[in-house]
Amino acid sequence: MSKTDNEFDKDHIWHPYTSMKNPLPCYKVRSCYGVYIELDDSRRLIDGMSSWWCAVHGYNNPILNKAIEDQLKNMSHIMFGGITHQPAIDAAEAVLSLLPDDFDSLFFADSGSVAVEVSLKMALQYWQNSDKKEKTEFITIRRGYHGDTTGAMSVTDPDNGMHHLFKGIIPEHNFVSRPRSRFGEPLQEGDTEELEILLEEKHEKVAAIILEPIVQGAGGMWFYSTEYLVKVKELCEKYNILLIFDEIATGFGRTGKLFAFEHAGIIPDILCIGKALTGGYMTLSATITKRQIAEQIGTLMHGPTFMANPLATAVATASINLLMNSNWQERVQNIELILKEHLAPARESELVRDVRVIGAIGVVETTRSVNVEKIQEFFVNNGVWIRPFGTLLYIMPPFIINSSELITLCNILIESLSHEYFE
Ligand code: PMP
Repeated sequence: MSKTDNEFDKDHIWHPYTSMKNPLPCYKVRSCYGVYIELDDSRRLIDGMSSWWCAVHGYNNPILNKAIEDQLKNMSHIMFGGITHQPAIDAAEAVLSLLPDDFDSLFFADSGSVAVEVSLKMALQYWQNSDKKEKTEFITIRRGYHGDTTGAMSVTDPDNGMHHLFKGIIPEHNFVSRPRSRFGEPLQEGDTEELEILLEEKHEKVAAIILEPIVQGAGGMWFYSTEYLVKVKELCEKYNILLIFDEIATGFGRTGKLFAFEHAGIIPDILCIGKALTGGYMTLSATITKRQIAEQIGTLMHGPTFMANPLATAVATASINLLMNSNWQERVQNIELILKEHLAPARESELVRDVRVIGAIGVVETTRSVNVEKIQEFFVNNGVWIRPFGTLLYIMPPFIINSSELITLCNILIESLSHEYFE
C-alpha cells in the first residue's frame, strides 16, 4: 500500500529543528487567506504567528498576488551580476525611502541568515581595508538569535544555537549578558557593566557589536530598554566599533515603529532586514549601510544566485506600498491594546512567570516547558495556530486581524495554561 502524504512527509522530509527519527507531527495546510490557515481536513485556524513574523498583510492578498503575477509574465529570474532590472531598483528605492538618509547602499540577499552573514562580512572587510586589520571579533548579547548559517550562528546565543555541537568549527565571539532593563524602563545600574569591561579590555580586536534592537526574538522573546541601545551606541563611538542591527524580525511595524531602532532614536551603521520585507510572500532580505562605510568596504565578496530575484523584489515593493498606504500604526496599536488586556489574566496562572507585550507581539512566559505536540493539538482543535517553544507562548498576528479574532487567540492561549500541556 502506498504511503499517505502525511506518512511520506514524516518519512522523507525534514522540518525545522526536528529529527527524522522521531519528528513532531505536522498539519497539512491546503490554503491560506486573510488571517486564516485552512487545513487539508477543512479545519480553519486563525493565524497567530504571521508565518514567523512575515505575513503582516495576511495571506493571499490580491494586490500582492497581482504584483507577482504581473512580474511573472515578464521575467521570473535573471542573474544580478552585470545586470539590473526595474523590480530591484523599485524595491531598493522603496526600502531606502523608509530609512534615514544616511542609509544609501543596499545589498539584496535571499534570506535573513544570509543578510546577517553579509553584515558580518561588511564589518570585517571595513576594518580589513583600513589600518585596523586586527578588528576581527564580534560582540553580542546572550539569548539573541541571528540565523542558522555558520556566521549567524556564531553570534546567536551559545546555548540556543547549540554551540557545543559545533565547537572548533564556528568562530568563537564574545557574549555578554542581555540587558535586564525592560522596554519602557530606564537602564538598571550595572546593565552595561560586563560590556564596558569587555570593551575596555579588547576593543582593539572588535569589529562590530550585533544586536536585535529592542526585541530579542527566537532566542527568548525579550523586550529591553531603549536606554541600553543608546548606551551601546555611545560605547561603539567611544571605541571605534561598528554597530549592526538585525531587524529581520522587528522591521516593518511589528514593534509599533516601522523599525525598532526608532524607539531609541539612534541609528546603526549596518542594518539587516528580511521576513516582512515581501509581506511574507517570497524569501528576500537586504543588508543596508552608509556610503562612507560602503566605500571603505570596497568589493564585497558576496553574490547569491538569486540576488534581487525579480519576483521577490516586485512583491517587496508592492508590500511596502501596501503597508505605507495602510493605517498600520493604528492597527498595531489596537493589537497591542487587545494583547495587553486579554493576555493579562494569564498572570493568574501558577504556570506563568511573565506576560509582556510590545506592538503586535504578545508573550506569555511559563515556568515549565511546553509539550509542543500536545499543546499544538489543543490549539488546532480550538481553531487557532500558535506555535510555542520552550517556555514561551506568543502571539504575533498579521496586522489585518480583527478584534474578535485576536481576542479568540488570546482566550485560547490562556485556556491552554493547564498542567497537561507542560512538562
Ligand atoms: N535574524 C533574526 C532576528 C531572525 O528572527 C531570523 C529568523 N527567525 C533570522 C535572522 C534568520 O532569518 P532566515 O530564517 O530568513 O534565514
